[in-house]
Amino acid sequence: MKLVIVIPDGAADEPQSSLGGRTPLQAAKTPGMDEVATRGIVGLSNNVPPRQTPASDVATLSLFGYDPDQVYTGRAPLEARAMGITLGPDDWAVRCNLVHVPDGAMRDFTAGHIDNATGKALLEVLQERLGGPRKVNGVSVSLEFHPGVSYRNLLVVRGGAAVFSAATKGQPPHDIPDQQVAGHLPIGPGSEMLKEIMLASVPLFAESPFNKSRIAAGHKTATQCWLWGMGKAPVLKNFQERFGKKGAIISAVDLVRGVGQLIGWNRINVPGATGYLDTDYAAKGRYGIDALATHDVVCIHVEAPDEASHEGRVDAKVSAIEEIDSKIVGPMLEALNRYPDSRILIEPDHRTPLRTRAHSHGPVPFALAGVGIRSDKASEYSEAAAHETGLVVDPGHQLMEKALNLKSF
Ligand SMILES: [Zn+2]
Repeated sequence: MKLVIVIPDGAADEPQSSLGGRTPLQAAKTPGMDEVATRGIVGLSNNVPPRQTPASDVATLSLFGYDPDQVYTGRAPLEARAMGITLGPDDWAVRCNLVHVPDGAMRDFTAGHIDNATGKALLEVLQERLGGPRKVNGVSVSLEFHPGVSYRNLLVVRGGAAVFSAATKGQPPHDIPDQQVAGHLPIGPGSEMLKEIMLASVPLFAESPFNKSRIAAGHKTATQCWLWGMGKAPVLKNFQERFGKKGAIISAVDLVRGVGQLIGWNRINVPGATGYLDTDYAAKGRYGIDALATHDVVCIHVEAPDEASHEGRVDAKVSAIEEIDSKIVGPMLEALNRYPDSRILIEPDHRTPLRTRAHSHGPVPFALAGVGIRSDKASEYSEAAAHETGLVVDPGHQLMEKALNLKSF
């Protein structure tokens, strides 16, 4: 059996007054997702265990069938894998955002969706001025700054196990929009060094010619780096060994690709996939359909609805959902006619309410249709429809076995 998974990141939301009391999923025209709901079943899945932070890394692990309480060590080590960086048993990875904090408040955790070239140049400045060997509390470590995509970059602390511990924590910057950052700095063992690096980046970035050219062009600048999401490399059992299925992941986001790669899925690169609202939805759909020929599980992740929520843009969120439906779900449903022994699952990783512009705990709606799945009464894919059926998968990592027909509902 083949399984297609479409992840509209952060799509689950609350009723909006600007949408006449409907949620973005309800307001969006989604004939493809509604067809999945009509032909199959709709329910709620809880991808974020209570003691975990509601973020894409934790929720994606659940969605891929892994219990975050058992395997999660932090966001950055997952991204390191996608960036081709190998972590030794004593190494730590730390997410190094480029952020816009012009007045002590987190005005933009993306530094205006900073372009890759500028991001890379700023990471090179960090490496040159702050990277390399150093002593922390008498312990020798070595710092490596690695450019990633746009604002999403990485700091690797070789030998970090001697400095940090599980009590070392950082604040996800996307969850403190417009808040003063002073109360949200890293805490725990090794946090002094992290705070020192963040502080040191302020003057380095201010004098950078790359940032100055962003000001001249009217863009937001990266005023500093922001360190968080730290952890050691996780140990994840191979997906094929666990479930007997060969998987592929399509995503523009290093984090999601990294989780896929760590469980042994093939990463399929799609030209024009940006991880933002301007992504090439149709290309992702086409590459996903092609991947079906050679894989049992094909997962297409689209970041756009989450980004729209972080920006508080209800219209952009609705249109991102519509694009996913018409350019990915619709063509995929047609392609699946050639694979009668198949299923399709639509499920966001977590909620990102427009009201808070931040990720939140709570179950998300899923729709699953295909071979062996009998239709329930739902005829629409939405939060309300999922509540109505009364079907709940909690913890959410149990849904994968059910979707693969290895366990019944
Ligand atoms: Zn997410």
